[in-house]
Amino acid sequence: MTKKILHHPRSGRYLAWAVVGLLLVFPVITADVGGAESKSRGPIIDMHLHAFPADFLGPPGKLNPVTGKPSAAIATEEIMAASLANLKRFNIVKAVLCGPDRELLDKWKAASPDRIIASPMINGKSSPQDPHYNIASLRRDYLAGQLGAMGEVTAQFQGLSPNDPALKPYFALAEELDLPVGVHMGPGTQRGASPLRMSLGNPLELEEVLVRHPNLRLYVMHAGWPYLQEIKALLHNYPQVYVDLATLPWLWPREEFHYYLEGLMRAGYGKRLMFGSDQLFWPEAIEMAIAGIESADFLTEEQKRDIFYNNAARFLRLEQ
Ligand SMILES: [Zn+2]
Repeated sequence: MTKKILHHPRSGRYLAWAVVGLLLVFPVITADVGGAESKSRGPIIDMHLHAFPADFLGPPGKLNPVTGKPSAAIATEEIMAASLANLKRFNIVKAVLCGPDRELLDKWKAASPDRIIASPMINGKSSPQDPHYNIASLRRDYLAGQLGAMGEVTAQFQGLSPNDPALKPYFALAEELDLPVGVHMGPGTQRGASPLRMSLGNPLELEEVLVRHPNLRLYVMHAGWPYLQEIKALLHNYPQVYVDLATLPWLWPREEFHYYLEGLMRAGYGKRLMFGSDQLFWPEAIEMAIAGIESADFLTEEQKRDIFYNNAARFLRLEQ
């Protein structure tokens, strides 16, 4: 749980984004008044939102890698309040909230019980005695409805394949309880001495897991970037698998994100792509992520609605 999991590159060289980011800071604070925006926009499901204590992975006030500025929300409670306000403002009706701290997950859920689907992060290295990772206590909390999904599974940051034996009990539990499971595959910025290995982010590392657990409701986070061919191969052979597009719409160069997204669309997977913000410490990232999808001119409005809502609603089996 104390292991580093931050995995997003610094890409402050995009000056245009810095300007956009500055413009976003103020609206975040006053987000609750954004009724017009939420009414004019169709509903959105965020499959990849984070709840971290502000001092997680370093002191509070971390710089938004795109804007180069800290968010207007600095403290843990401020980040929660501003993020929840942005969910409301942008008509995000459900959000899978991933975090390492169960008390904090509970706090977010209590503040917005209809929107938040609490989801414990699983790293594959922590002691099974820790209640956060203990199978029996997890089962109890899932059955009680306190938790609703599993992930982000961050084994890649520990230098583990998702196929590592340490993760077997978690995938078995998810299959038994029919839970959505998000597995981080792909991006990492812990360069140098970190245990993360880019090779372990290859989506095909999931193949044995999917064979062993044919009923697992698995989604590949970050769409397995940069493994475009491999994620297509996985989606081809395992039609139950979905992906989220988290991080890429706002932290990646726009052209690269659109190139990757277009590749998935061209291959015919437009019904299995789901929006994710990957809000970490910066609530403004939610709007930035939405903009990354909205600006994809090659998508029809219907395809955007699929990515923003319809695909995730089907994957989560929301009643409609
Ligand atoms: Zn991730």
